[in-house]
Amino acid sequence: MTVVQPTKIVCVGRNYAAHARELGNEVPREPLLFFKPPSSLIGPGDAIVLPAASQQVEYEAEIGVVIGKRARKVRERDAMAYVRGFTCANDVSARDLQKTDGQWGRAKGFDTFCAVGPVVAEGLDWGRLEVIGRLNGEERQRGHTRDMVFSIPVLIEYISHIMTLEPGDLILTGTPEGVGRMQAGDVVEVEIPGIGALRNPVIGEDA
Ligand code: MG
Repeated sequence: MTVVQPTKIVCVGRNYAAHARELGNEVPREPLLFFKPPSSLIGPGDAIVLPAASQQVEYEAEIGVVIGKRARKVRERDAMAYVRGFTCANDVSARDLQKTDGQWGRAKGFDTFCAVGPVVAEGLDWGRLEVIGRLNGEERQRGHTRDMVFSIPVLIEYISHIMTLEPGDLILTGTPEGVGRMQAGDVVEVEIPGIGALRNPVIGEDA
């Protein structure tokens, strides 16, 4: 079971300057958006399946924003009234395919490539959230909402001026530096203090 049932999953790329640089990219002047299909969703404890088509599947620990109320052309100062809460998310990415394809539909869209949970936490201060990524118990990523290039309210304003956000829709707000490859047998974890930890085992496609 997944903790959210979104009509769409809107993701933001390169929203932490240090992560943009670690992959050799410029910091964007406007939010860089892409999608993951709802069919990629899994919940806590579910296995992330490494597709045979990729040799380089990476974790990306992110803060997930769950929309609570239909949002269309919302202003930054009103944005948080449209949010139900926050959750931990792993924007699993086939980095080799992301580089070769140009469009990211395949690299970001395989089944099991969007782990979310363990709960949607309400009432937290969006400006004081921290996200930690661990591989096999070892910390690899740590980011804070103050380090985002575009804040959560700015993202909601920007996205809702393009597309209507429906209750349950999910925004993945970008990953801090420290992304890396996962292999079969690994356990990957995304923790947001105040929410909890999302833990997923990694298996090969033929397992
Ligand atoms: Mg990401």
